[in-house]
Amino acid sequence: MLEECTVAEALKLLGKKEISALELTEAALHRVEAVDERIKAFVTVTRNEALATAALVDAKRLSGEEMPPLAGIPMALKDNMCTKGVLTTCSSKILDNFKPPYDATVVELLRDAGTVLLGKTNLDEFAMGSSTENSALFTTRNPWDVERVPGGSSGGSAAAVAADEVCFALGSDTGGSIRQPAAFCGVVGLKPTYGRVSRYGLIAFASSLDQIGPFTKDIWDCALVMNAIAGYDSRDTTSVPLASPDYTAQLLGGVKGLRIGVPKEYFAAGIDRDVRNAVQKALNVLVALGAEAEEISLPHTDYGIPVYYLIAPAEASSNLARYDGVQYGYRAEADNLLEMYKKTRSQGFGSEVKRRIMLGTYALSSGYYDAYYLKALKVRTLIKQDFDEAFKKFDLILTPTAPSTAFPVGTVEDPLTMYLNDICTIPVNLAGLPALSMPCGFVNNLPVGLQLIGKPFAEATILQAAYAYEQHSGLAKKKPVLSGKGVPKDE
Ligand code: GLN
Repeated sequence: MLEECTVAEALKLLGKKEISALELTEAALHRVEAVDERIKAFVTVTRNEALATAALVDAKRLSGEEMPPLAGIPMALKDNMCTKGVLTTCSSKILDNFKPPYDATVVELLRDAGTVLLGKTNLDEFAMGSSTENSALFTTRNPWDVERVPGGSSGGSAAAVAADEVCFALGSDTGGSIRQPAAFCGVVGLKPTYGRVSRYGLIAFASSLDQIGPFTKDIWDCALVMNAIAGYDSRDTTSVPLASPDYTAQLLGGVKGLRIGVPKEYFAAGIDRDVRNAVQKALNVLVALGAEAEEISLPHTDYGIPVYYLIAPAEASSNLARYDGVQYGYRAEADNLLEMYKKTRSQGFGSEVKRRIMLGTYALSSGYYDAYYLKALKVRTLIKQDFDEAFKKFDLILTPTAPSTAFPVGTVEDPLTMYLNDICTIPVNLAGLPALSMPCGFVNNLPVGLQLIGKPFAEATILQAAYAYEQHSGLAKKKPVLSGKGVPKDE
């Protein structure tokens, strides 16, 4: 079945002219038609543009032109990445009519690489959440069990890849939004080092934490997509002017002699026992393959969530000040300007976004700035120093990605409980490090995610270890059987 192809498999078939880009795109579109009513991964499907792009790729190939590296590969983008002329909603009412006048850098890069954009995927509004339940549009469903959440905030991208609706997708990760949904949906998700992939054209949530990265069906594909999107961009002032390697080059290197630190804080209470066991088994496999593992301590881990929930809302409150009904997006009817601002923002933002804006505004206000925001910045440094210290001795750090497997839709009502989903992922963003989530087992037929954290810009080392593990586990081949169960009527 064509839609099940990985990027690498599809490229091989395209290269040998056994299939055309149009056939591949049509197969993906059929798959979307067949399953997306149940999965609800897509906010927008760009059907006509996709077919036209695919036809263009085929024409080029026929004329004997040299093809770019991902020519003809269908993919999807989280709906917080600007796509010229294509609706970009952030799954928010306040941007429900927004068509950006420009493409994000990653969108340009993926176009230059020859990919076919199939559509834009659902997220928690402005990427704030861990389940897509905060989307103002609808909740995406987990392909392994449609009664459960796909994780978030990039739940649409994760579910689209897991359900074989696209070969790969991009997401963004501020505190775990690529890795946690990758874990819940049983796919590979990589958050690159802060500064590795351009954020130009990514609608900002928390600028010192946001990073774009790929969702793929296996590790090899993750390397291929990284080859297309990593690199310096002068339009993003936090982009790092460092040449990016060929991420496939090191994949076959194995794990012999690789030193893995296993922080005890990430296996403590609060992490589901079955999840812990699955991750421990994966560690055993890596050791059997030749890695060296040792228990370590990252003593400031517990401060990750409180620090994040000061810094991220503070930055968000500033970033989201631009949605005032004047320049773009939703505008409420009102008698005067001030009323218009107020109504636009109170009607346009959902409750989680408002909560964050209020928290952030409070933390930044004079009198509280030193006690909360500045203090949080200082503790952030301590968290980063924990990692710096560990990486003097170790090449990788191994942890669970999320404390549990995917939970049923509608069951986590308390925001603080929801925030705990990112307990294993948030410290990585605070330290600006690269980290990957990949499947390492199943509990009650729900995927468990393994997180591998690397040194700054050492994505290739993460991928090398991940590839060795994946070859051994064979889990990349395991697919959800999409059950016939419908989506409850309330949606
Ligand atoms: N779940 C976290 C939050 O709600 C992280 C979100 C993200 O990484 N975008 O903020």
